[in-house]
Amino acid sequence: MSIVHWTNNNNESQSKSNRQSPETQPIIKKKISKKQQKNIQDTSFKELYKQQKLAQIVKKAIEDKDCLYEEYDEIKISGEIIKLNDKVIIKNEERNVDDYIGEIRKICTILEPNTQKLICLCEVYWFMRRNEIICHKPRAKRWIGNQEIFSTNTNDYVLAQTIIQKCTVVDCEEYFNMENLDSTTYYNRLEWDVETKKFTNLNTVQMYCLCQQPWNPELNYIQCDKCQKWYHFECVGLKEGSYENKDYVCGYCD
Ligand SMILES: [Zn+2]
Ligand SMILES: [Zn+2]
Repeated sequence: MSIVHWTNNNNESQSKSNRQSPETQPIIKKKISKKQQKNIQDTSFKELYKQQKLAQIVKKAIEDKDCLYEEYDEIKISGEIIKLNDKVIIKNEERNVDDYIGEIRKICTILEPNTQKLICLCEVYWFMRRNEIICHKPRAKRWIGNQEIFSTNTNDYVLAQTIIQKCTVVDCEEYFNMENLDSTTYYNRLEWDVETKKFTNLNTVQMYCLCQQPWNPELNYIQCDKCQKWYHFECVGLKEGSYENKDYVCGYCD
């Protein structure tokens, strides 16, 4: 009888210590990470939120075991399902500037332990727009179309509520062949390095005309009937519309 009692007691204390272990471990871990990441762990969620340091909120949430952190494959925003790898338009708080465009790479929620405030964040990889490129590359103004965007290797976290809607990003050829174009359809053929402020793969794009520039689907071109090469009207000294039903032979073939 006493043996049984002793065994029971032992089992109980063992299971008790098992129950405790998940709670105890994170505290030790938290202390360690607090030492390494003093700044993030010492700064409250509220303070980080106020400073809009969203990537640091995610980092803190992953490290802080008191905080409920979850990742998702999709999210519903304004009635629209947005999935990982979808391209989205994101609100730009500055006035009179274009909204941002990004690709969703991570969707997560953070339940802040003290306030029980739920924060929903998305990690996005940015696309750059025409205006953001031509301020560094003024000569590219001629061949970058209004709907052309440039992929980057730069990422950030944004609040899910700043996502306005999904948008479509296709390659240049598909864009050129599309019949129903709207303002939320963009094309991407080049990658932009934000740090060096250069295109990383300009050599993969075919050049056209005497001026040797990438194709601009928003401009009209004339094709030489002999060599089949395409030229800007302006570059070969022609007025647009003047050659609609006439043969054209370029300066090289003439
Ligand atoms: Zn040209
Ligand atoms: Zn020709």
